[in-house]
Formats: sequence, C-alpha cells, structure tokens
Amino acid sequence: MKNIHIFSDFDGTITDQDTLVFLASTLGGGTEMVQAIGRLIRDNTISLRDGIAAEMRSIRLPFSEVEALLREKVRIDPGFAPLAHWCQNHGIPLTVLSAGFHQIIDLFIKPDEFPRVEVLANSLNPDPRAGWQCVFRDGTEFGHDKARALQAAGKAGQYTIFIGDGLSDRSAAHVADEVFAKHSLIQYCMEKKIPFREFETFDGILAELQGREDIVRSARG
Ligand SMILES: [Mg+2]
Repeated sequence: MKNIHIFSDFDGTITDQDTLVFLASTLGGGTEMVQAIGRLIRDNTISLRDGIAAEMRSIRLPFSEVEALLREKVRIDPGFAPLAHWCQNHGIPLTVLSAGFHQIIDLFIKPDEFPRVEVLANSLNPDPRAGWQCVFRDGTEFGHDKARALQAAGKAGQYTIFIGDGLSDRSAAHVADEVFAKHSLIQYCMEKKIPFREFETFDGILAELQGREDIVRSARG
C-alpha cells in the first residue's frame, strides 16, 4: 500500500459542536438568523461561503472576549490527541481541512502541542466595529475546497483517508480513497454511493486503523 495521508474536518468532526454556528447563535445574529441562513444554504439560494461570511459579520466583539467562551463551551473529541500522536509516531501526515478559521482551530489544536498537524483553513479579521470579516482560501462555494488538498496528495502518490461530517466535506468525500463519516455526510455518501465507514469518535477510528494490516504495514517506523 502507498503511504497514507489522513485528512480531517474540524467543526462537528473534531469538535462536539460547530464553532461558527455556536458563535453566530450566541454572540452574533442569534439562532433565528443562523437557522435562516442554514435554510438558504440548503436551498442553494446562497453559497456556504456567503452564509459563513454573513454569520461572522454579525459578530461585533473583540476576539479576545470570545476565546474564553469557546474554550469553555466547545469540546474536542478526546480521541483526537491519541490519533494525532499515533500519526506522528508512525510518520503519517495528518491535515485538518476546515471551512472555518485558523484563529479558532488554534485554540483547540495548539500548534505547540501538535507541531506535526497541518491546518488548512480560512482566516478571520475579527473587526469588532464592522463585524468579523472572513478571508477565504479560494473562490469556491465553500470558501475552501477540501478536495484540492486530497487531489494533490493523491497525485503525490499518497493514499488518502478523509474524516468529515457536513456540507463542506462533500467534495473531499468524492475524491478520498477512504471516507469516515458522521452526521449529514452519512446521508450524502449513501445518496452518491460513496463507500464510507460511519464513526462516532476518533477512538473508534484509531482502533480501526490500528487493526488494519495494510495500514499498519504502510505506516513507517
Ligand atoms: Mg464539519
């Protein structure tokens, strides 16, 4: 087997709740606005990118005031760190692909604690007066097309495993060699006949990978 590269979504996959939905609901435009934007995205009236931009623009607080609340209310899957360490010990690259934001992800996946975890995400300019502004990675409807990183890895000869849960994970699910899915990504994979494994926690994913002869053999060290 080729060398493996594991990619994971952040919001709702590594975290127990979507940080953008949480912030916009509690500190920005409120639950009704978030629900209305969600409907427009599902109807294809607006893109996910424009929906996220509108949600972030509704937040008018300094980022420092928001940090503590995020740390208090959002939990990351306790199995993420063991999976990240297993990857590091076996020379398996692990990349977090997010349609959310570096500043928020850094609070939970601290670069000094996880120096080998690569994070590809959008950026925020948290302007408390004009509302938070988004700096998207690309011009696609997700603001960050996760399929691109997987396609590049595939071209470089890597075997790609993708872990995700939602709308911004769809393009990646199409191009990954293997998919672990939860939440709405399960339904999507079923509709599109994309083979996937359902997962609940990262502990389960790690146990599954460790139990696979082909994966263990291809892992270096
Ligand atoms: Mg997600």
